[in-house]
Amino acid sequence: MPSPKDSWLFAFFVLAGLSLLSPAILSADAPCPKVVLPPLPYAQDALEPHISSATIGFHHGKHHAAYVTKANELMVAPRFEGKKPLDVMMIAAQDPALAGLFNNLAQAVNHEFFWQCLKPNGGGEPTGPLAEAIVKSFGSWAKCREELETAALGQFGSGWVWLVADGATLKVVKTGNAETPVTQGLKPLLTIDVWEHAYYLDYQNRRAAFVKAVLDHLINWEFVAANFARPGPYAPLEPPSEPKPASEP
Ligand code: MN
Repeated sequence: MPSPKDSWLFAFFVLAGLSLLSPAILSADAPCPKVVLPPLPYAQDALEPHISSATIGFHHGKHHAAYVTKANELMVAPRFEGKKPLDVMMIAAQDPALAGLFNNLAQAVNHEFFWQCLKPNGGGEPTGPLAEAIVKSFGSWAKCREELETAALGQFGSGWVWLVADGATLKVVKTGNAETPVTQGLKPLLTIDVWEHAYYLDYQNRRAAFVKAVLDHLINWEFVAANFARPGPYAPLEPPSEPKPASEP
């Protein structure tokens, strides 16, 4: 029969052993990737009167939030351990069995990018090297803008319109539902969400009026120019506070 003192000693050694072991057990599995719902880069009502506080509240607080929650639920799988969300998105894009994961994860990525494409008192015309590249690829900003508006109206049902870099050439493309040009090797510079949830409370069926208001008043050209200037691939999920390489112009 062990004495109470022996029992305490035994318990002590068991607990000490577990406390030493458990971090090793935990760290053997790299964590599954996660996306977050980033706070808006401006106040919820900052884009009024062009996009109402109510629209932004539902769009960010309900739609975007739901994509984030669902994507995180679906990314809990051993095959995704240690991967980045963007890597998982590229894997899911190739696998029809992962369509649900792709849709929610790509929507989380697309929305995080979209909020940064807007700002109060934005819009108008691009400037600097980005403007020069637009003139080179489209002939003029007016022509580029016309292509953006045509693509936005031509997207049947839900989707996105994008200004992308295809190597040195800039292009306008549209994508359906959650699709992103990232999976086609294109680098997004700018996007406009043309799902009805982006504009229905404010514009009802008038998508063209919504797109015009965004282009006239809300485009954050500094963000678009920074995407254009950044070398290498698309990295929208890296924290905005991440310092940029010193060599960048
Ligand atoms: Mn949306």
